Amino acid sequence: MLERVTLDGAKPFTGYADRHDPESERLYARSGGQAMDWLCDAWRYRFNQLRSNRCKYGKDKTLVPIGGEPDTRSVSRSRSECSWLAAVPSLILESPTRIERVEWFTAVQRRKTLLGKRLKPGRMPRFKSYKRDGQRFVCWHNGGRNAVYRQVNRNHGIITITGQNPKGMSLPGEPLRYRILLHVRVSQPIREYTAIQVDWTNRTVVFNNTPTPVKHEPTGRAVGIDRGCVHAAADSDGRFMDLPKDRLKAIDREIRKRQKAQARRAGNAGYSSEREYAKSGKTSRAYRRTRLEIGRLHAKSKRILDDVYQKYTTRLVRENDLIVLENLRLANMSRRNKPVPDPLHEGGYLPNGQAAKHGLNRSLRQASMGRLSSMLAYKTRLAEGVGMILVNPAYTSQTCSRCGHVDKKNRESQAVFVCKKCSYTANADVNAARNILERGLDTLAVTSENLWGADGTPVEQGRKTNGNATRESVAVS
Ligand SMILES: [Zn+2]
Repeated sequence: MLERVTLDGAKPFTGYADRHDPESERLYARSGGQAMDWLCDAWRYRFNQLRSNRCKYGKDKTLVPIGGEPDTRSVSRSRSECSWLAAVPSLILESPTRIERVEWFTAVQRRKTLLGKRLKPGRMPRFKSYKRDGQRFVCWHNGGRNAVYRQVNRNHGIITITGQNPKGMSLPGEPLRYRILLHVRVSQPIREYTAIQVDWTNRTVVFNNTPTPVKHEPTGRAVGIDRGCVHAAADSDGRFMDLPKDRLKAIDREIRKRQKAQARRAGNAGYSSEREYAKSGKTSRAYRRTRLEIGRLHAKSKRILDDVYQKYTTRLVRENDLIVLENLRLANMSRRNKPVPDPLHEGGYLPNGQAAKHGLNRSLRQASMGRLSSMLAYKTRLAEGVGMILVNPAYTSQTCSRCGHVDKKNRESQAVFVCKKCSYTANADVNAARNILERGLDTLAVTSENLWGADGTPVEQGRKTNGNATRESVAVS
């Protein structure tokens, strides 16, 4: 999408040849490419400066900075002390502040959650490296102060990044100001944005913008949704949402094939694990190339899933005034089964269903059900007149949605529900979705009479206090 980069005005001053010696030769970016490399380096430098102030627990349980000596300099002080930062636009040097903080604290939060669920916490984010993270930078738009986009024709536009060389640092006869023009190809109209993210390694630009609300006309309809494994989702109207399983499986196969090859390469090079091999820094070219390919394949399947979920959730928000979801504790479903010791053999174990659950785990993960509720949460929040409720899903799959009879045996199979009392027959997921809707409507009725405002839109919500512990209430207005 980023086609080429050109310069206009002065040549940007990129520092002294000997970084700290003002007597040495002054360097300038002579081409758009050089200017981009320089901006990416500067952005990463500032990011790592901030990151160096983060601490970890050392050997004796004391906090130590993660990278040795922390660099606490401010933007302006760094600018005056580091010649290569002197001419970088401030909206580029300021942007790492927030990004670094968000990245760090989401990782802290994620580790806390995962450790709570006794899952692998994953590692903390590290310093940004040229090799691992590629050349990238972010420039804030700040309501038009920099990174200004201009449409040139239907499919092309130019983003202008402006900056200024320090006094007396421009080449003779040139002005102080420089302009870096990013010529981009765009596939859709650019909405209002808050920042641009430039990936110079992959030649892409992303405009950060706030999502626009889904258009919603009051329909008076409510829907319950059951998320499952056979169908990604089923609703109380008897409709299903399925993932493009064939496409996803094909991508999965491609990934596995490559992962096997990677393991083989590590083995051939004499390493016990692929991780050791990757860490050794002596990886082959084929290995590095395949690793990139694997990354791209993962990204591709993520895009496919995202697309499906976006379309589905938009449709739900457009067609319904109320959406009821089960409040799934995904962790409970994907946690390992307890080992069952074999009483006849010391140290032996009986089958505990883990093998079966492994398959379930995988398709669960594939369905990535959390995504559905998070997308619905923000879409219902933005759209006017749509509410979302989370209810406790206990027994929704065993309860008859016609007579309310609860029985484990009601569930004939994974797909079919047959009531033992009134012999009501339905698709098991749809039956569950109807129960979920029922629970949502019940919750609404008891939570508060003025939950629905005078104009018919749901207003304030609160936790229920009528002592019925099996129901949890309401999420979004
Ligand atoms: Zn029944």
